[in-house]
Amino acid sequence: MIDGRTQLYGVMGNPVRHSLSPIIHNGAFKRLGLNAVYLAFEVQDLKEAVRGIRGLGLCGVSVTMPFKTAVIPYLDRLDPTAEKIQSVNTITNRQGLLTGYSTDGRGAVEALEGKIPLQGKRVFLLGAGGAARAMAFSLKERGCAIALFNRSADKGLALAKELGIEFVALPSPSLGGWKAEVIINATSVGMHPHEDQSPIAQEDLQPGVTVMDIVYRPLRTRLLKEAENQGCQTIDGLEMLAQQGAAQFEIWTGLRPEIEPIKKDLRQILIAR
Ligand code: NAP
Repeated sequence: MIDGRTQLYGVMGNPVRHSLSPIIHNGAFKRLGLNAVYLAFEVQDLKEAVRGIRGLGLCGVSVTMPFKTAVIPYLDRLDPTAEKIQSVNTITNRQGLLTGYSTDGRGAVEALEGKIPLQGKRVFLLGAGGAARAMAFSLKERGCAIALFNRSADKGLALAKELGIEFVALPSPSLGGWKAEVIINATSVGMHPHEDQSPIAQEDLQPGVTVMDIVYRPLRTRLLKEAENQGCQTIDGLEMLAQQGAAQFEIWTGLRPEIEPIKKDLRQILIAR
């Protein structure tokens, strides 16, 4: 029951009404018996919204598009990962001190590690946007060899250079003998309403390769369907979504929520939508 002691959490974004974060966190609060509630805030004025976190004493906030980098100047501290990637998706409020974290990379590697060990794996990463950037840093920390492709070569090259990884000029994971063991789509190609698109040709998907798509609308993207046809192991975008949310919850409360009920709730919502 919501009462005078209920702790307030939320997500700041714009637009934000479609956000699945309230499903993740309110479900976990309920299962763990915590007196807390998580709401979606469609933010018009970011600076004032961050002042509101302190002013109203919100305990923790998620940050989503388009504020993941813009929010940084208004925070007191960044954790080392957020500092490196210059992106924040989680804010803690400890007695008015606001600290920014990013759980996107951790969510992605934990989703992958649920299926395969990552150390030493050859990963073909598509994309150089916010999500790809967070993932590239975390994959490198896990000891992966990474080749990166991005439609805008200048952005892709800059990220590859920053990380000391390989940039490739074509979206082909086997190009020039660079045989990928893991392929990750971290672009928005294949996302609703462009479900007919895939970032990689089906014949480039070799049997035995692990293929992850971080797009979660739809859950079964064309890339994942074709990967299954080719005999690949597949991981959908819901895995990362659940893991990055669970990591946020742990940062705020110190408690690791069960992942399976989170995935079940998300799956139900995504199938119904
Ligand atoms: P972003 O920063 O806007 O980056 C978008 C990326 O997609 C860029 O690399 C962009 O390439 C590429 N791209 C977009 N349209 C393209 C097209 N038609 N052809 C080729 N490349 C294209 O977005 P983001 O935050 O990284 O998110 C990317 C996707 O991941 C979105 O679908 C988002 O919903 C999803 N996501 C999922 C999770 C999860 O937990 N599952 C978490 C975060 C994001 P250019 O540089 O050439 O523009």
